[in-house]
Amino acid sequence: MDLELAPEHASFRAGVRELAQGVVQPLAAEVDRDHRFPREAIDAAAQSGLLGVLIPRRYGGAGLDALAFAICVEELAQACASTAVIVDVHTSVGTEPILLFGDDEQKSRWLPRLATGELLGAFALTEPASGSDAASLTTTARRNGDGYVLNGTKVFITNIGHAGLYVVFARTGPDEKAAGVTAFLVPADARGVRVGQVFHKMGLHGSPTGELILEDVSVPAANRLGAEGQGFTVAMRALDSGRIGISGQALGIGQAAVDETRALMHDRGHEQGDDFTLADMATRVESARLLAYQAAWLCSRGLPFTRQASMSKLHCSDTAMQVALDALQIAGAEGAASGSPFERHVRDAKALQIYEGSNQVQRIVIARDLLRAG
Ligand SMILES: Cc1cc2nc3c(=O)[nH]c(=O)nc-3n(C[C@H](O)[C@H](O)[C@H](O)COP(=O)(O)OP(=O)(O)OC[C@H]3O[C@@H](n4cnc5c(N)ncnc54)[C@H](O)[C@@H]3O)c2cc1C
Repeated sequence: MDLELAPEHASFRAGVRELAQGVVQPLAAEVDRDHRFPREAIDAAAQSGLLGVLIPRRYGGAGLDALAFAICVEELAQACASTAVIVDVHTSVGTEPILLFGDDEQKSRWLPRLATGELLGAFALTEPASGSDAASLTTTARRNGDGYVLNGTKVFITNIGHAGLYVVFARTGPDEKAAGVTAFLVPADARGVRVGQVFHKMGLHGSPTGELILEDVSVPAANRLGAEGQGFTVAMRALDSGRIGISGQALGIGQAAVDETRALMHDRGHEQGDDFTLADMATRVESARLLAYQAAWLCSRGLPFTRQASMSKLHCSDTAMQVALDALQIAGAEGAASGSPFERHVRDAKALQIYEGSNQVQRIVIARDLLRAG
């Protein structure tokens, strides 16, 4: 058993940290205050190859593994959680479905553009009446000659308005639940694709989240990802590894809260009660990191990792939330003031317990897997 990062992962972390601390972190407070897309941060990440971390070299990516992906998102989130979720969603659920389920033509056509950031990826599963129960979605894809016509509304879509390509889940078959769902690659500039309401959220202000409206959108059969009826499998597999990315986001927020609390205590002085809280915070983040890296390690080796990814997402996001609250408590009124990183971490951490499967849904996944194992 070796718990030390391999030299290539360690040097990758150092490179991402330099970019995150040098370019991304200085923008974080302003991006949060102004609810603005962190364009400079995303461009810098693209130039450093961070939008193609998981994409093989032959398609212009870095060809790295799930552990590198987790490290990348963790380092970005430590600097700016909004930037991290944009990169995370692009890399995992926005791009990985093509890597895992795309044919050669789809890979050659889309992956090089996603790897450079020419196109930002997004994942459109949730609907107004279909969140945790994703199999009940009602967006339709009707066969029309050699293609399909899509109609429906997706909500809470990350990277809305900035994405060039959406992985959209729609119902093709008469089956009411999962078996009737199919995945499609829908370019943002296809006729009939519209951005609806862009939501104001309590946190992650730099990460746009909103409605994707599909009105008689024609896509060729070449844009169908996987077979008809395979869409739910595509979505669930994408979310499995997506949860490694959410774990990275949570670790970054948690570590930032620990580091900022430590710095504050150095400057301001501290009581023993604060010391105990800081020790608990750091211990929680460190233990969550082990779970996240274990899930990434299993995924990188092609081993079953669904249960560990859910455990990791559950534990890391709960940890980030708790640690952010503890940090704010230690900081006191100064931490609660708007513009303080302490209150930003609390607001940013909350969504992690909800998206890519709420933490209740993670418990369902974990229990189901445990009970299946006998
Ligand atoms: C910031 C943000 C970004 C997002 N980005 C995307 C995106 O890019 N693409 C996308 O498709 N979606 C996205 N989502 C949507 C997200 O995935 C859903 O919010 C999530 O799946 C939960 O669905 P819901 O909000 O409809 O809650 P509901 O499913 O209505 O659940 C409400 C509550 O009930 C609980 N609950 C539901 N079912 C059960 C059950 N069976 N047992 C126990 N408890 C249950 C839930 O845990 C939750 O606490 C995003 C959401 C947010 C907040």
